[in-house]
Amino acid sequence: MAKLLESKSVVDSQLEKLKKRVAALSQLGIVPNMRVILVGENPASLVYVKNKKTLSEKVGAQCTIDKLPENISKADFVSHLNSVVNNSAVHGCFVQLPLPQQLKDTPIAHMIPPSMDVDGFTPDSLFALMEGDKGEKALLPCTPKGIITLLQHYNIDISGKNIVIIGRSLIVGKPMSYLFTNHDATVTLCHSKTKNIKEHTQMADIIVVAIGVAEYLDETFLSKNKNQVIIDVGMNKKPDGKLCGDVHFQKVKDHCDSITPVPGGVGPMTVLSLIENLIFAAERKGR
Ligand code: NAP
Repeated sequence: MAKLLESKSVVDSQLEKLKKRVAALSQLGIVPNMRVILVGENPASLVYVKNKKTLSEKVGAQCTIDKLPENISKADFVSHLNSVVNNSAVHGCFVQLPLPQQLKDTPIAHMIPPSMDVDGFTPDSLFALMEGDKGEKALLPCTPKGIITLLQHYNIDISGKNIVIIGRSLIVGKPMSYLFTNHDATVTLCHSKTKNIKEHTQMADIIVVAIGVAEYLDETFLSKNKNQVIIDVGMNKKPDGKLCGDVHFQKVKDHCDSITPVPGGVGPMTVLSLIENLIFAAERKGR
């Protein structure tokens, strides 16, 4: 059985560090303050924002959820978002996705100032990543940042490794490819048009799967050497309602070196990264 790369021990150890940073800020009279904009009642979104609020409060930060009605007009939504980003007491803000149809083309990433961009999705944040940032300068996208934190916690080297990422979304696959590159890995980014994906995955040291296809990756994608690290970003619901990843855990667990479970793997790392970004944003503003 492969080693389980569980997030709990990582989160616990990082939380202690974050609490100290929040305590140092409070000496300066600063309490990190996050505003979350939630439109409608999407059940998954409600759970995500609750988790984010709970973790913020655990480290001593403030988190306010602005619940807006599902049928809010675009003008009212834009006006609300502008009022949040122009509030000097707010250090970080993000809009919980997905948004209802009438708001889908709102240029949110261009409306949130990079200094408040705790999700790491604004053009400036992404450009910093393209320039080689590893988090010294910009607020990094949360899931990629969380995956790096997890690998570092388990002393898994990234530098010089061959890493295959499956999935090229703007929130996971693409920024992940830049962040791994910035950590000196050699990255192959696969997607739905990639031919012979298994030829790539079988050669990889680390495989990251972020495609949203339940239990897609099985043992036939893996090297026979059983020495690969598997990072499962997927969060899918099976017909029986149970949560599962993009990796078929049962088929893969005896054919690799280590693997993130779902749940309890990448998901909590994403939330942790958001809180780290909030504290970084508050520290920068306080300087
Ligand atoms: P997304 O926007 O839905 O994009 C999916 C990507 O996967 C696309 O690039 C697509 O290729 C590729 N793809 C789809 N089917 C494929 C296949 N059969 N073979 C190869 N590539 C395929 O993805 P996302 O938003 O990154 O989400 C991916 C998964 O991660 C979802 O389950 C989501 O819930 C989960 N997620 C989890 C977290 C977390 O914190 N754990 C965070 C974000 C997302 P094309 O570009 O060619 O269409």
